[in-house]
Amino acid sequence: MRLKNIPGSRETIAASELVIHEAEKLKGGWSEEFGRKAPLAIEIGMGKGRFLMGMAEQNPGIDYVGIEKYSSVLLRAIQKLEAQPKENVRLIRMDAEYITEVFAPGEVDIIYLNFSDPWPKDRHAKRRLPSRQFLARYDQFLKEGGRIEFKTDNRELFDFAVEEVAESVFKIKEITYDLHNDSVMNQGNIMTEYEERFSAEGNPICKYILERK
Ligand code: SAM
Repeated sequence: MRLKNIPGSRETIAASELVIHEAEKLKGGWSEEFGRKAPLAIEIGMGKGRFLMGMAEQNPGIDYVGIEKYSSVLLRAIQKLEAQPKENVRLIRMDAEYITEVFAPGEVDIIYLNFSDPWPKDRHAKRRLPSRQFLARYDQFLKEGGRIEFKTDNRELFDFAVEEVAESVFKIKEITYDLHNDSVMNQGNIMTEYEERFSAEGNPICKYILERK
């Protein structure tokens, strides 16, 4: 998702208290930032934030950090959060490539990847957020017993993601190729912006949940 550049979005983000500006400084200190010891969940490539806000509302006992690369997209999430403030949500504008600089070993309980960009060219495979390279990064800060949840309607990307798990320290705990018709995995499902759009077009949604081997 890349919205047209919105004039002033960088300035608005710089001035926003909902955005963490030097996130590396919080590495190992996220519980102090939230002012409590609670499970920490992150969404990487959060887009406009519908899923993150919905999860934060559904689970007030969990703290959430949303990560988004583009200012123009993050701006929409900021506007949403300003309209309905939530104490258990913080936002970061960054490229997830540097994510290990922001979270310390064992600091994160759950990682959500939703409708990640497919990067269809083979030479860009390592940029895909469920690639083996990213799984190795997630391993560095995911808690013992933590999990990774990924959903997408893109079957090619999902098949790639499933293959990549074998090259990582993780294993598949649960998997479905039609989330909305899976009564167990769909329980409590909060739809993302993309999920709403693509499922309305009739595309089945794939999802896996990973845990360590
Ligand atoms: N998760 C949202 C949803 O399901 O509606 C948005 C999906 S959109 C296809 C993918 C989002 O991930 C975009 O907003 C994009 O800017 C963001 N993104 C892609 N690569 C990223 C990266 N390396 N770091 C942070 N955000 C990234």
